Amino acid sequence: MNLTNENTLPNNDAGELSGFAALGIGGALLKATLAAGFTEPKPIQVQAIPPQLEGRDIFGIAQTGSGKTAAFALPILSKIIGLGTKRRPKTARALILAPTRELAVQIEDTIKLLAKGAHISTALVLGGVSRFSQVKKIAPGVDILIATPGRLTDLVREGDLILADTKWLVLDEGDRMLDMGFINDVKRIAKATAPDRQTALFSATMPDEIAELAKGLLKDPVRVEVSPQSTTAAEIVQSVVLARTRQKRQVLSKMLADEAMRTVIVFSRTKHGADRVTKDLVRDGFEAAVIHGNKSQNARQKALNDFRDGSVRILVATDIAARGIDVPGISHVVNFDLPDEAESYVHRIGRTGRNGRDGIAITLCDPSENAKLRQVERIIRMKLPVIADHLGSPDPQRDPREKTERHFEPANDREHHGGRRDGRRPGNGGGKKHIAGKPNGERGPKPQGERPAAAQPNSERKPGSFKRFKGNNKRRFGGKRPANRAA
Ligand code: AMP
Repeated sequence: MNLTNENTLPNNDAGELSGFAALGIGGALLKATLAAGFTEPKPIQVQAIPPQLEGRDIFGIAQTGSGKTAAFALPILSKIIGLGTKRRPKTARALILAPTRELAVQIEDTIKLLAKGAHISTALVLGGVSRFSQVKKIAPGVDILIATPGRLTDLVREGDLILADTKWLVLDEGDRMLDMGFINDVKRIAKATAPDRQTALFSATMPDEIAELAKGLLKDPVRVEVSPQSTTAAEIVQSVVLARTRQKRQVLSKMLADEAMRTVIVFSRTKHGADRVTKDLVRDGFEAAVIHGNKSQNARQKALNDFRDGSVRILVATDIAARGIDVPGISHVVNFDLPDEAESYVHRIGRTGRNGRDGIAITLCDPSENAKLRQVERIIRMKLPVIADHLGSPDPQRDPREKTERHFEPANDREHHGGRRDGRRPGNGGGKKHIAGKPNGERGPKPQGERPAAAQPNSERKPGSFKRFKGNNKRRFGGKRPANRAA
């Protein structure tokens, strides 16, 4: 096999090499990879890098935390380094699609790290932040574009981005894109890329729709798989605390008073619930930040940064917002409530116990959540021990400060809407209505040129065809909601 460029080693030399060099990574890219602390390739990298260097498509079953970012990024970088800076304006050589802004930011960070020293340009295209600067950045053409599907679709439709030269396409967290209702956007985007492109699709799970998508988008793919977290959760000590919903706030505060809980993610099923839990924790004197789909991109990034650098000890998060977050050293995950989908439990607890470290996951369970708990136990194939039972204790006295608060769950409060459980889709007209009547009065200022975060839960908009909405933003975001999408 010939050298593709100085960053790709011929396979016949690989026998004498080890680590990433043995997989075919060489030159400046290998140096940067080692400098990033990636000395031994992870299993997904061992499986996925060589076939991609040979030009094969990949169908990867792997989760965030498995090392999949480098598994798809290194082969692309290897091929792009050395192509030179001559790019057509408004084009991207490689496109990586991610379901959430946080994951997209994280992917770009990893790519920058791995490409250090090489002249590789990257750009992010995300909803919720200034569009103008994104358009400006891609105007001369970029090597690697990392994007969420909604904003990307907008830019393509409006002629600010041309995908015809895109020869590498990665779809990350395919199952989450499906959940969030982006699958048609993804198909349209893929269709607009170069027909002879190389494609990699990664998904943590493989529902039928993902298998279908893979069939349509991948050419004779190599299937790679690493064991899902549900089978590696041994490093995470999991338990259940029985508490009625009314008791949970107090139970949580008492729990967090234990300083052994150094760095904690508290998961809430709903956005409103996440806000409420955060408010209560702050009221009880804890430093806590919140992250969910109704927060502006800046607020989300700030919460994440504060949590990452240790300025806040507790991050309260909804499932989608937290998905893909890779913060090292999280000691505890607390499930304030059980997720609607048992699989989310596995993702939640996977935020701790990363990279071989120990982790603790505690789930607060109201009797009304017993069925969900059983489902979780079914998929993790173990019974969770109950370490405390508050059911016999009286409910806490109601705090007079919360007189006006009532527990309610607005129709679109769940981030797992995805358009499938409740028929709604991200960023539809209902989102707009929601801002006006937001239950928690949290509507932030609308920055110039941005759509309000609440109109695009998790960054996105209503999936639609490139053509249909041309030049008709009003209809796209604020127009009459089709009857079948009524809240
Ligand atoms: P990912 O699944 O791509 O989000 O990666 C999970 C974490 O593993 C990230 O913090 C990466 O920086 C780290 N990582 C990925 N590959 C390696 C490697 N070969 N050696 C050490 N750390 C790695």
